[in-house]
Amino acid sequence: MALNVFEHVDLQALNTLALPARARYFLRVETAAVLPEALAFAAQRQLPLLVLGGGSNLILRGDWQGLALLIAVPGKQLDDTGESWSVRIGAGENWHELVQWTLAHAAYGLENLTLIPGTAGAAPIQNIGAYGVELADCLESVRGWSIDAQCEQTLSAAQCQLGYRDSIFKHALAGRFIITEIGLRLRKQFAPVLTYPALREALQGKSKPDAAQVERAVRSIRQSKLPDPTTLPNAGSFFKNPVISATQLANLLALHPQMPHFAAGDGAKLPAAWLLDQCGWKGRRIGAVGVHEQQALVLVSYLEPPAQAGRADELLGLAEAIKDDVAARFGVTLELEPTVYGAG
Ligand code: FAD
Ligand code: NAP
Repeated sequence: MALNVFEHVDLQALNTLALPARARYFLRVETAAVLPEALAFAAQRQLPLLVLGGGSNLILRGDWQGLALLIAVPGKQLDDTGESWSVRIGAGENWHELVQWTLAHAAYGLENLTLIPGTAGAAPIQNIGAYGVELADCLESVRGWSIDAQCEQTLSAAQCQLGYRDSIFKHALAGRFIITEIGLRLRKQFAPVLTYPALREALQGKSKPDAAQVERAVRSIRQSKLPDPTTLPNAGSFFKNPVISATQLANLLALHPQMPHFAAGDGAKLPAAWLLDQCGWKGRRIGAVGVHEQQALVLVSYLEPPAQAGRADELLGLAEAIKDDVAARFGVTLELEPTVYGAG
């Protein structure tokens, strides 16, 4: 199979921060069958790989001097297993469209995850989550190409080691496994998850909303709070919510009794947005980048002036200033959520 590799491809429209960057080599991957040849092409030229889905959770610091693989493997299949639905999805399918498709087939479980940008194949990378539901609640398997074993492999959900916005693909398998398909198990009976106050409020006290109502409510809250990357480039939350120990929580609560916190293992999860808000970052603009006025966790890159080389470093500089401030005021270390690529 001849590889359709392009050269010097503009990636600005392929990342939701609209950062200017070009890929030295670029290949759109529509089937797993091209991967052996694509990886041989990269190995022969000693090219580093950049795997791209929807580009909504990464920061491109500059041109990519290697091979960028845009994962566009299609496919949606739903099988009735009696008790539940077994669903297989090509890694290139759009996540939000997948959520709509499952609801149209009365397959339940993804309602709270509506309107998350990106592809199905990227969903396991950080175990996407929103409004009390995460991918781990329904993921069964991940199929892909192991760069080390040089063959296709299927990993069980347990092997993916999913955690809070975390998985094995951010650690032992970081950059070593190209996901081409995911397998989900979805319910036939709808069971709403209404643990988040904002969602309960949006449903105005309906104790038994149906799946379409929950999906609509989540969509409407998100649309009212989150900037649309096409008009205000962003990568969603720039920081993870920090998880701290019970001792650190007790010390912080003694100083800030009103600090919101949620149980997480033996410790607690703090809403990073609250920490940023307390430090006065919400709505601040510094040059061409800033902190969104309605959601402090979302850093934005303004369309005016148009982004040029160095915009990613402006964003990362802002993130560093925020991290330093939060560390000085609360003694809490924030971690970036998106992955940074390129040396700048
Ligand atoms: P990309 O940004 O293209 O890639 C992200 C990482 O995954 C990169 O390291 C990339 O190399 C790797 N990757 C991508 N595809 C593959 C593959 N097939 N095989 C191997 N590695 C791969 N996230 C949430 O969890 N919850 C939310 O509610 C949420 N809301 C968001 C709202 C907005 C407005 C935005 C912009 C982002 C939001 N995100 C959220 C973050 C992001 O949408 C998700 O993390 C999403 O899963 C990223 O998908 P993507 O296809 O864009 O991945
Ligand atoms: P929110 O509802 O205002 O809540 C603020 C924070 O408190 C969230 O970070 C959430 O943690 C936590 N929280 C609220 N109620 C909780 C509960 N009952 N149990 C445990 N934790 C609780 O949050 P938001 O900013 O509008 O976002 C809504 C949802 O969309 C959140 O789940 C958020 O993670 C998700 N989201 C994610 C991204 C991203 O890029 N990762 C971007 C936008 C929205 P969690 O974040 O752990 O849920």
